[in-house]
Amino acid sequence: MNPIPSAIFETQISQMQVMIEELVSIESPSTDKQSIDQLGDKMIEIISPLNPEITIDYQQIAGNNIVASWPDEQGNTTGGIVVLCHMDTVHPIGAINDNPIRINKGKMHGPGIIDMKSSLVQVVFALQILQKHNRWPNTPITLLLTSDEEIGSNSSRPLIKHFGKTANLVLCMEPALSQGELKTSRKGVMRFTITTKGKSAHAGAAHEEGINAIEEMAHQIICLQNLTNYETGTTINIGEIKGGSRPNVIPEECQIAVDVRIRNIVEANKITNIIDNLKSNVPGSKILITGGIERDPMPKTPEISAAFKQASQIAKNLGIMLKEGSTGGGSDANIIANYKVPILDGLGPLGDGAHTSKEHLLLNSVSNRTALLSGIISEWKI
Ligand SMILES: [Zn+2]
Repeated sequence: MNPIPSAIFETQISQMQVMIEELVSIESPSTDKQSIDQLGDKMIEIISPLNPEITIDYQQIAGNNIVASWPDEQGNTTGGIVVLCHMDTVHPIGAINDNPIRINKGKMHGPGIIDMKSSLVQVVFALQILQKHNRWPNTPITLLLTSDEEIGSNSSRPLIKHFGKTANLVLCMEPALSQGELKTSRKGVMRFTITTKGKSAHAGAAHEEGINAIEEMAHQIICLQNLTNYETGTTINIGEIKGGSRPNVIPEECQIAVDVRIRNIVEANKITNIIDNLKSNVPGSKILITGGIERDPMPKTPEISAAFKQASQIAKNLGIMLKEGSTGGGSDANIIANYKVPILDGLGPLGDGAHTSKEHLLLNSVSNRTALLSGIISEWKI
């Protein structure tokens, strides 16, 4: 059958806008349990008319994760289609004052609007239409609404793995690349904290007695930054540094946070090995290292290639030319890439400025992207 056309969703664009505004206005930084739970309650209220079975994965510190599932006609709940959405954003409470919700020249602004509040709205409207038009597929559908994607998915990881590994198709609702491309490969992410230890002393009276932890760290920083290799795709970023107390005190400690992106596990192991074996340069100083891989790379597996091909065909029937690309950013799709399941990532809307105060959505992409999502759900052949 033909997928439900974009024109049908176009007639609902004003209702979709209202819901996007409602969700963006509930600011939900990853570390603010109360506000994420408030958004979770709102999402349960919104999806309840679609009659899912709802399970709440209660968390002590993180926001609660929510599982909404629709069994198939035989009552199966596993397998089928798994939709990954996160409810948290990188923006602190109050970011809405710097990037207020507004529409200007076809752009709708707001913190978290493309990453990924409007994706939540796409999912709701796609499922609503499928139910209304009797196009709901006979396959289990599981919607995961998670609370901590932007800080590494620690609380939601077990759920993502549990549902993801047996899925026939995983739909990750991260925003699209700039021209609407799906993300058929993603780099993996590693995080390390490196601490150098020295010995403090009076910078004037006892300079020779001190061991400068910042000096030691300077050697390490240059060595680490030099590991970046754009050809292999490995990048290193020392994104944070702290150390020392006063100009006239030789610093006892310095600490850096290191972000590493890799295309494959071989590179991950190579970099881990180098970091684990860093040697000190300043006599008497010590180096302490913690961290490791946070998200496995998501290479373009045969399963992802085949899924993209099928999605492109469905898109074609909607008059959409679907393209693909890759990104250095990680998502929850990385967590399950090792299970060799078909994954489509980047099904969210078009826009720009994710993670910044310029975050906005291109309003004219919403109906197309929602039609694409609903078409993939209704037409998918396993
Ligand atoms: Zn995201």
